[in-house]
Amino acid sequence: MIPRLFRLGKKGASTVEFVIILPLFILMTMVLWQAVVLGKGIMDTQAALRDAVRVAATTGDAEKGKEQGEESFGDWGNYQMKNFTVEIDNNEAVAKAETEIPILFMKSTPYTYTSEAQAPVVKPVNVYAGLEMPPMGDGEFGMPVANPIITSDYGMRWHPVNGGYKLHSGLDFGGPYDTPIYAIGDGVVTYAGWMNGYGYTVDINHGGGIVSRYAHQESQYIRVTQGEQVTRGQRIGGIGNTGWSTGPHLHFEIRVNNVPQDPKPYIF
Ligand SMILES: [Zn+2]
Repeated sequence: MIPRLFRLGKKGASTVEFVIILPLFILMTMVLWQAVVLGKGIMDTQAALRDAVRVAATTGDAEKGKEQGEESFGDWGNYQMKNFTVEIDNNEAVAKAETEIPILFMKSTPYTYTSEAQAPVVKPVNVYAGLEMPPMGDGEFGMPVANPIITSDYGMRWHPVNGGYKLHSGLDFGGPYDTPIYAIGDGVVTYAGWMNGYGYTVDINHGGGIVSRYAHQESQYIRVTQGEQVTRGQRIGGIGNTGWSTGPHLHFEIRVNNVPQDPKPYIF
């Protein structure tokens, strides 16, 4: 049943079998290992460039992007990025690198993998900076934070973490960690916990199909639990940096029948 070649245990391998099998085995191991090294080298390079342009595009700082890229690349193999550059040019972050991956374990015979990544620079738009605003608003709903500094408006934008031109479904309020977040109106907490992409999030149902969402908090900042009744201005949590977030901020949404709306008319 089993080919004779592999029945080494029973009779012991003959010299001929060893002469054939051992080099074959070594060769196969080397080929597999080479494939792993090559694949890892290429993936590490791509990840490093992606992280570099992401950070450069969201901070506007090419040097920071380069630092992040080098950190992401790590030092797993005996290969390295050469000519790694990160530049911001015409509102576009561009990262380039050549990675020399040793073939047959020899640095003297490298395969050079050349790669490039770009991302449009995201300018933080502080559209409401400097405007006088009542801390809690004077409409039906109040403000989710006391000193609202909007760092990203509702609308289409380049996604800072995942890339791609997508709807930014809420308002981002910048602020240090654990800056108090308040319920914008009376309601019932319909969610308090981890939500994919949003990180630690609180949802409050205000009735009439209107739900307010407070995302990217840290779990230990959340002060309410699901099912709890809250009142307007009650502190429900604090600004954090969880989920798809590149720095501490509150991502605030208004959803009507679960469809995100521009929150500004509701809270200003
Ligand atoms: Zn946001």
